[in-house]
Amino acid sequence: MAIHSGDADVIVIGGGIAGLGAAIRLKDRGFEPLVLEAESRVGGRMTTDRVNGFVVDRGVTLFGNAFGSMRALVKRLGLSPLVCKGKFSVGIQDAAGCRGYRSGRFDDLLLDHGISWRARLASIRFGFDLLRYHRALVHGEDAQTYFKRIRGEEVFERIFRPGLNGPVGGAVETSSRVILMQVLWNLLVRGQWNLTDGVDRIPEAAAAQVRVVTAARVRHVEQSGESVQVETEVDGKAQRFTARRIILAIPGQLVPALCPQLPAETRELLARTQYSRIVNAAVALSKPPNVPYAGYAFTSDVIPGLGRKSRWSISARPIDVPTARAWPEFSFGTRLGCAAWM
Ligand SMILES: Cc1cc2nc3c(=O)[nH]c(=O)nc-3n(C[C@H](O)[C@H](O)[C@H](O)COP(=O)(O)OP(=O)(O)OC[C@H]3O[C@@H](n4cnc5c(N)ncnc54)[C@H](O)[C@@H]3O)c2cc1C
Repeated sequence: MAIHSGDADVIVIGGGIAGLGAAIRLKDRGFEPLVLEAESRVGGRMTTDRVNGFVVDRGVTLFGNAFGSMRALVKRLGLSPLVCKGKFSVGIQDAAGCRGYRSGRFDDLLLDHGISWRARLASIRFGFDLLRYHRALVHGEDAQTYFKRIRGEEVFERIFRPGLNGPVGGAVETSSRVILMQVLWNLLVRGQWNLTDGVDRIPEAAAAQVRVVTAARVRHVEQSGESVQVETEVDGKAQRFTARRIILAIPGQLVPALCPQLPAETRELLARTQYSRIVNAAVALSKPPNVPYAGYAFTSDVIPGLGRKSRWSISARPIDVPTARAWPEFSFGTRLGCAAWM
């Protein structure tokens, strides 16, 4: 794409959903944004593969009903007809058996006969705290300490540690209580939604409405006077873009190398951002698997090596994404996610 220097009010670095969402908002407010994306397609971790008629979301698969901004973006992009209820349930398997919890059904936790009375009382306390604090960003206490304080050690060890270790990146015990509250508010109380035709419809539709250059890897950003210069490699060739402002919508730890002019304390903080490594294997099935729950989590007493000391967790989750062609009936893609945290 032949875009020349100085054309944009704002350059957005990164064509994932954060960058594209920002670009749409800028455009709606009368600015001229330009998105630079390193890969050959937009979306980043909100990406879908289509293989033999199957729709396989590679990263994001479910959006919380509490994600108001995402829902508004979907509406703004004209994708509301594709929104469907995202049904999810998880079976937690420990030595005592398998207990299931459905999304949007907090009562599954309160009425769980597989846990002790003390644990059920702790679940009630947790429910009240969830109502009070799910919006408040009060940090200062990690999840494990919090559950100990409300005498919910059993709830934590038998439900939330195995069930949430993956979603929070492999360190649920040291995650802030706030992270846990927000994840559980979305999962157990509000429920989820997704798109029938793959989540990448959102970044694709956004990218169609703003200027985007793909295969454009930003190498260096420099501010001088009233403008910002963005040195970029586009299809292997060096190119310079200028703008009045930039937005960095890339993983935090990549920022310091691009922006050496940032204050030292900001660079140091961003450099410490860490992401877990995740391996996803997608297995396509011609009909839904005959299992009661969409996902499974296991404790270390069932599969030695998983859980507290280990950094491995396994979950299998059938994703009910109906596909349009190649199959006479609804097809289900099953994603077997093995997540390793190094
Ligand atoms: C396996 C998995 C499952 C997930 N499931 C869910 C889920 O069910 N629900 C949910 O809400 N969230 C989920 N997430 C989290 C969600 O995917 C992310 O929070 C979200 O997609 C991040 O968007 P982003 O735009 O901030 O970053 P990214 O999607 O990472 O976008 C950053 C973009 O910047 C580009 N980039 C990087 N460096 C440069 C550079 N130098 N120059 C130009 N471009 C650059 C990258 O190529 C990328 O496209 C999941 C994540 C993973 C990995």
